[in-house]
Amino acid sequence: MTRSDTGKKGSQHKDTSSAVRAHAQTRLESRYLALRKEISAGLIKADHEQYRKLAGEVGDPADLSVADLLVDLDLAEINRDVVELREVELALQRLHAGTYGLCMDCGEPIAEDRLESLASAVRCLDCQARHESKHGVRVSNSL
Ligand SMILES: [Zn+2]
Repeated sequence: MTRSDTGKKGSQHKDTSSAVRAHAQTRLESRYLALRKEISAGLIKADHEQYRKLAGEVGDPADLSVADLLVDLDLAEINRDVVELREVELALQRLHAGTYGLCMDCGEPIAEDRLESLASAVRCLDCQARHESKHGVRVSNSL
């Protein structure tokens, strides 16, 4: 792999081309490694915060609540990473199984634009929306 395909899009619009799959695999694999690093770094950090609390190094009660908050934030972040890691893993499995690019719910091809912007997509937009409203996942931006 010496040529650099920096997101240059051709005009072919067939079903998921091998170029798209190859591109997705590269992105998924590096995302996978990055997520694993983030998760273990996050766990170590969260652990430190727990230690700090346990060791009673927190000066006064006001600080304690801040430390609490930090732990919660870290874990929320780790959770998000773990959820994404599972998606990335699933997408990689589907790449290897040759079913990547097909919606795992309805079996229809997922739009290449969608795969380009979200390499870990395993559902078409419609099914993803249905899945999210049913399971209430991925509402990270909602308050
Ligand atoms: Zn679908």
